[in-house]
Amino acid sequence: MSINIPRGTKDILPGEVEKWQLIEQKAKEVSARFNYKEIRTPIFEHTDLFQRGVGDSTDIVQKEMYTFNDRGDRSLTLRPEGTAPVTRSYVENKMFGLPGQPVKLFYIQPMFRYERPQAGRYRQFVQFGIEAMGSADPAIDAEVISLAMTVYRELGLKKLRLVLNTLGDAQSRKSHKEALIAHFEPRIDEFCSDCQNRLLKNPLRILDCKKDRDHELMKSAPSILEHLNEESKTYFEDVKTSLDAMNIDYVIDPTLVRGLDYYNHTAFEIMSEAEGFGAITTLSGGGRYNGLVEDLGGPATPSIGFAMSLERLLLALEAEGVTLETEEELDCYVVALGDEAKQKSVSILSQLRQNGIKSDKDYLDKKMKAQFKAADRLKAKYVAILGEEELTKGIINVKNMDSGDQQEVVIEELSTFIKQGK
Ligand code: ATP
Ligand code: MG
Repeated sequence: MSINIPRGTKDILPGEVEKWQLIEQKAKEVSARFNYKEIRTPIFEHTDLFQRGVGDSTDIVQKEMYTFNDRGDRSLTLRPEGTAPVTRSYVENKMFGLPGQPVKLFYIQPMFRYERPQAGRYRQFVQFGIEAMGSADPAIDAEVISLAMTVYRELGLKKLRLVLNTLGDAQSRKSHKEALIAHFEPRIDEFCSDCQNRLLKNPLRILDCKKDRDHELMKSAPSILEHLNEESKTYFEDVKTSLDAMNIDYVIDPTLVRGLDYYNHTAFEIMSEAEGFGAITTLSGGGRYNGLVEDLGGPATPSIGFAMSLERLLLALEAEGVTLETEEELDCYVVALGDEAKQKSVSILSQLRQNGIKSDKDYLDKKMKAQFKAADRLKAKYVAILGEEELTKGIINVKNMDSGDQQEVVIEELSTFIKQGK
């Protein structure tokens, strides 16, 4: 009996993997341009990290984590998101003491969540994310948003919508929280059990509920914007001014609440407006989390970040009909006829590869015609043909597959010849 792949996961095969390489390359290149450095953290962490760092009342911690005990009976969890691990590492490696502040980091790593699989929602997925740690300048909030938008735009996405909100500072949130409790409490029995649990602990989460999103009390719920103190208002205005300065359009949505507990001030999501993108339209989300470093044992460190999954990015590209130019062709395919030529082709191929030329040969003892077919299938720019006659003359016959021109080249000069034609 054969064994299948686990639900919610997938193989990325040649043909598809080139697209992944391309978008990963774009993410890395844009990160470098914005002066963000790569960080890689382990696939699993202590379960406590996510309970504390993501928050006990979140969907991730409540329902979605892959948690197991190892042979030493420690509770470990496959990383469901990147911010808590990066923050752990920031504290553990005392990055707050580094001379270059803020510390600007990016990651491209697989995440694991036990979810109901559907288009755009998997149990293993890859997130590209960034974290800018150690600055409370609203201009860096705008920089972070701009970085995400740059990656999407340069890959060819046009139908994007940036949704912006603020969650305010602790004081604003407290006042908002009280108003939310007063709003929902009298009719909380009409809400799901999750919301009932959230009411006193974290009523903001109610606004993020997927089951009760159409309840009439949702629309009339008090807005955070009415509860912002002066400082929070100014902060939000300054973020908007920086976005305007970069010509980045946005819409304000006071109901936008991020799914994680540690956010304050700026919260944002980037959505796809492409037709046929499907039910899930969020491409990425992020925001400011000024309390997290302190919660995880470090000094007070204002920080902001975002995460996008590459799976949803690829879906958006598909929905907008953007095709990525991937390099598939081979520079040279060596066709050898006869035992001696076959032997010689081993060293010729090796010479080509040492010289940086993408090349291949037949390993199935194919006839000449079939070798040409293989060269065609591999989209070889040149086919170099070696028979007995060529061998005695010390030359090889090189055919340019675009023009059809054929030319004799001294074997030792094959690499130089192909490099010139590249
Ligand atoms: P959603 O509301 O769609 O569940 P979320 O709030 O759980 O999203 P975040 O934790 O903020 O999402 O993750 C950031 C980004 O990661 C999302 O915007 C999305 O691009 C992606 N993402 C989240 N969960 C998945 C998943 N299961 N499969 C693929 N991509 C995902
Ligand atoms: Mg989710």
